[in-house]
Amino acid sequence: MIVLGIESSCDETAAAVVDSDRRIRANLVLSQLDEHRPFGGVVPEVAARSHLDHLDKLIEAAMREAGIGFDALDGVVATGGPGLIGGVIVGAMTAKAIAAVHRKPFIAVNHLEGHALTARLTDNVAFPYLLLLVSGGHCQLLVVEGVGRYRRLGATIDDAVGEAFDKAAKLLGLGYPGGPAVERAAKAATAPVLDLPRPMKGRADCNFSFSGLKTALRQRVDALRAAGQFDANAQANLAAGFQLAAIDSLADRTRQAVRMARETTPDLTALVVAGGVAANAALRQRLSEIAAAADLALLAPPGKLCTDNAAMIAWAGLERLRLGDSSPLDFAPRPRWPLDQTAAPLSGAGV
Ligand code: ATP
Ligand code: MG
Ligand code: FE
Repeated sequence: MIVLGIESSCDETAAAVVDSDRRIRANLVLSQLDEHRPFGGVVPEVAARSHLDHLDKLIEAAMREAGIGFDALDGVVATGGPGLIGGVIVGAMTAKAIAAVHRKPFIAVNHLEGHALTARLTDNVAFPYLLLLVSGGHCQLLVVEGVGRYRRLGATIDDAVGEAFDKAAKLLGLGYPGGPAVERAAKAATAPVLDLPRPMKGRADCNFSFSGLKTALRQRVDALRAAGQFDANAQANLAAGFQLAAIDSLADRTRQAVRMARETTPDLTALVVAGGVAANAALRQRLSEIAAAADLALLAPPGKLCTDNAAMIAWAGLERLRLGDSSPLDFAPRPRWPLDQTAAPLSGAGV
């Protein structure tokens, strides 16, 4: 089987061709960063128009790279939500049109299901596994029991961790996008600030919180600025301190989730991390220690499959297609779509 995947839920326009032998035949990502940078964040209207301007050519380029025509496809997959709705509509409508013209199944997938199943494309991991999903809009721990079967153990009660990285970068004057900028700045730290809060540490549940950490960071930055002491050195030390606090918190919550998940699911196969923040090397290192201590493999897809891409969307669609699932052409794009409310394919999952 071979499918075309389309991603357009945020500020990356992406098209990919993936087959059921887990080969990525093409994986093109067009970042809109330069278009949004002057605004210091993603502007939904700008994003939607940019997807519209570029998506058709990107799809043609992906098909050319894969060396196949539309008639060779077994399905056309698009992100059906959650995300910025204008962009999701552009991608979903494009996929529907291609599917209708070429009489192929259309599959609308949950963007988070794309992140959640990426490790099955890259590492062929078997169900059930524990997933730490850390992205720009989400921060959750889930047991992935099968395609469409996601059991949430905990989630953030305020900001997503990627959002926290982005806000920290803004506070520190590191620009946009924040995650990679904070990681880069942290490398230059001489004395990381160690006394920032570790939100939710030691709690019996598996929830997260990052707004207190952000506030603490803001207070430190404000105080240093007022004293005329906010220089490149302070910036690096605060970036490192923030990153360490965020990772400590993620690590503590993940350790708790391993304990909780094992109570109901003793046969966990792996700890998987996914979403844009999973590209962070310090986080990956910390999670590998947690996994080793729990006698689990850590699976972390390569960085460019952690941040938004269409290969993960194509793959999630393929997983559904081979279980007999597809979507009606009147599927309505969903701005909100919790992963644990994503239905399993009719033929049942766990494959
Ligand atoms: P969602 O998947 O929740 O809808 P999204 O698609 O916008 O949100 P992703 O593209 O998966 O999010 O991830 C983007 C986020 O990842 C941004 O917040 C970005 O700052 C963060 N990020 C990317 N690289 C790194 C890094 N190296 N370290 C920390 N954070 C990072
Ligand atoms: Mg993005
Ligand atoms: Fe994403």
